[in-house]
Amino acid sequence: MSNSPTGEIYRIDWLPGTDVLHGTCHCGAEHSAQDPVEMWEWMLGHPEGHEPRGSAS
Ligand SMILES: [Zn+2]
Repeated sequence: MSNSPTGEIYRIDWLPGTDVLHGTCHCGAEHSAQDPVEMWEWMLGHPEGHEPRGSAS
């Protein structure tokens, strides 16, 4: 299934040629990690550690 405006969408991409996972939360926050567990903890920890786009603080 694909995106839904109201659903919680997580997306994780593996950057080719690296060990780095790049995750995008449903809130638009992005995070990179080499450890899938760390990535999921970040995802599930929303909104902790998630910075809204366009916010400098
Ligand atoms: Zn989030």
